[in-house]
Amino acid sequence: MTKHIFVTGGVVSSLGKGLTSASIAMLLERRGLNIRMQKLDPYLNVDPGTMSPFQHGEVYVLDDGSETDLDLGHYERFTSSPLSKKSNYTTGQIYSSVIDKERRGEYLGATVQVIPHITDEIKRCVLDLGEPGVDIVITELGGTIGDIEGLPFLEAIRQIPLDIGRENCLFIHLTLVPYLKAAKEMKTKPTQHSVGQLRQIGIQPDILVVRTERPMGDDNAKKIARFCNVETKAVIEEIDKEFSIYEVPLGLAEHKLDQLVLDKLGLVGGSLEMSDWKELIHRIRKPKTECTIAVVGKYIEHRDAYKSIYESLDHAGMAHSARIIIKRIEAEEFENGEAEVLLAGVDGLLVPGGFGMRGIEGKIQAIEYTRKNEIPFFGICLGMQCAVIEFARNVLGLAGANSTEFASDCDHPVICMLEEQKTITHKGGTMRLGAQPCVLQEGSKSREAYGEDEISERHRHRYEFNPDYKQQFIDNGMTPVGTSPNGLLAEVVEVDNHPWFVGVQYHPEFKSKPSASHPLFKGFVESAIVHHRERMTTGL
Ligand code: GLN
Repeated sequence: MTKHIFVTGGVVSSLGKGLTSASIAMLLERRGLNIRMQKLDPYLNVDPGTMSPFQHGEVYVLDDGSETDLDLGHYERFTSSPLSKKSNYTTGQIYSSVIDKERRGEYLGATVQVIPHITDEIKRCVLDLGEPGVDIVITELGGTIGDIEGLPFLEAIRQIPLDIGRENCLFIHLTLVPYLKAAKEMKTKPTQHSVGQLRQIGIQPDILVVRTERPMGDDNAKKIARFCNVETKAVIEEIDKEFSIYEVPLGLAEHKLDQLVLDKLGLVGGSLEMSDWKELIHRIRKPKTECTIAVVGKYIEHRDAYKSIYESLDHAGMAHSARIIIKRIEAEEFENGEAEVLLAGVDGLLVPGGFGMRGIEGKIQAIEYTRKNEIPFFGICLGMQCAVIEFARNVLGLAGANSTEFASDCDHPVICMLEEQKTITHKGGTMRLGAQPCVLQEGSKSREAYGEDEISERHRHRYEFNPDYKQQFIDNGMTPVGTSPNGLLAEVVEVDNHPWFVGVQYHPEFKSKPSASHPLFKGFVESAIVHHRERMTTGL
């Protein structure tokens, strides 16, 4: 019988529910249990794919092409739980499937209502993950207790223990205990209120994970336990981490959260081994070298917009025991300022993915500077497309080169729409999405980095390198070294005679893990470290 853990959040948003859920899953997986993970998001969009990164942060893409919440990135980075479209549901998806069923007449004349039809649909999506062999399903509920739109989800998870037995369910509530400077005190009242709201709905949490800035002490833990009707040992402190989010599981393990969960669910697990993980943390705490990477994009002030990129850079840092100093630069700044000034002291430039033309010219200028000055460059999706446009304009001499995304009637459409995209009218879920195979050319930097001839990477785009210009690019020193197996689509381009100039049409950042840095991030950072060393010896 699969057990179910539900993770809810209270008091404020951004408490790190995704990170906490992923950390719990990681500890349980390391104790030998087979885990599945899932996020329920109460907003009305069918998926986050149509939302601006300013609204929602990065859209995380899975192998099966699902466009999902960025918390799923934490799930993949911390665990080996396989994810699919069943791992992220939104109110929009739940309602559309209920309405489809209603149109097909499947409700046999019933009045279709939030309870039971919407709640039954939610329960079906949760219980569906509990296949034979799966020990625990962890379901994270997006939003904060008290949100109106979260109520049907809470009602559904309230009912699940009645269907499958209370002993098979565990409710973990993540909450905040703020420190009030003026009173010089930690305050438990917001936590009491938030648990009170949960109990009104009919959910009694079993475990409280309490986010704090500083140790809360036994007295506060006892007080919270008493007022919230939980055992004192089930009030687990989660202190803000100074260095890295990857320290979170270690903190929870110190408080024996894994054992508590197993005891409460009546499960037994093997012993917990974390020494490899501690070693990774040690590498970030005591780096042997460093390098500075500029990330030039258009959602720079929104940290979550390039979440997996920043994480992947950190993983490469762990692999090389290097401190990665990330310099976030708004692309438009290059349109008014000197690339030389903006990129001073930079050892590598990364241009991530994106949509729309704002900032494009700035990215192109930044790329031109790194190409000419032999600074390592890594272009991802739109970043690769910008590198192709830059090369066409400045090396091939095609002044009117552009992408048809930004200039539909440009003289030289070196980036153009994929043929299959031309008839598509709906924006949601219709890009070239998910895992696609790619064949790498012998002797290329990418082939060397991967150590494999054929790879699989995740995509999310509508435009591509225009094959009509392929020979001109090759003749002038930019080669499509990675292609779709039929040779038609350029997936990786490299510039010859440059320390590291690699552009990829796919998103490698979705497949990097702290313990297994993505080969291209690792290669890029290695090249940046060399650049840093040279910069230090030459005093530049
Ligand atoms: N806007 C570009 C396209 O659709 C790039 C997309 C991306 O960077 N994810 O092809």
